[in-house]
Amino acid sequence: MAGKATVGILAMQGAFIEHEQAIKSCGAKSLQVRRAQDLREIDALIIPGGESTTMGKLLEQFNLLEEIKFQAEQGMPMWGTCAGMILMAKEIENSDQIRLGLMNIEVKRNAYGRQVESFETALEVKDIGITRAVFIRAPYVQKVWGDAQVLASYEDKIVMVRENHLLATAFHPELTTKKEIPEYFLQMIK
Ligand code: GLN
Repeated sequence: MAGKATVGILAMQGAFIEHEQAIKSCGAKSLQVRRAQDLREIDALIIPGGESTTMGKLLEQFNLLEEIKFQAEQGMPMWGTCAGMILMAKEIENSDQIRLGLMNIEVKRNAYGRQVESFETALEVKDIGITRAVFIRAPYVQKVWGDAQVLASYEDKIVMVRENHLLATAFHPELTTKKEIPEYFLQMIK
């Protein structure tokens, strides 16, 4: 199925082109999602990095917020990177910004401080092994509960979580040549 799956990439704002290229290079089809009806054409959804406050407002404005929540409740696999992870979190430290609120995680935005706003590192991921991880003004996860499982930590901070059909990474796998994480996500599509 994974090879024939159509993966929607939320294309309101942020790094959606890079995700599209990564998905295509794994042999799956992709579709840029801008309207609620686009959700009917897809088997899974990626919420890219960008600016989570802007993306949240656009989701509401384009009537996608409730539609995406509904599809997540129906079991559609979803993967959020960076700002996408923030939008998927139920709790965001010191923020009442608009969110999808799908996962049992609490995130802290821009958590790595100014001087190291962006960096690249090797990262060990459960069930995957060592991958490369690019962090750009990244959040980290301060708390997980319920079915949320930690898949990777960097310097004692949680940076990758899976909760059943939902996946969140604080970093940007789509910006490296490594394809393990896009492939892992494609495996989540039944
Ligand atoms: N700092 C951004 C936010 O809070 C996320 C950065 C990113 O997605 N690269 O939305």
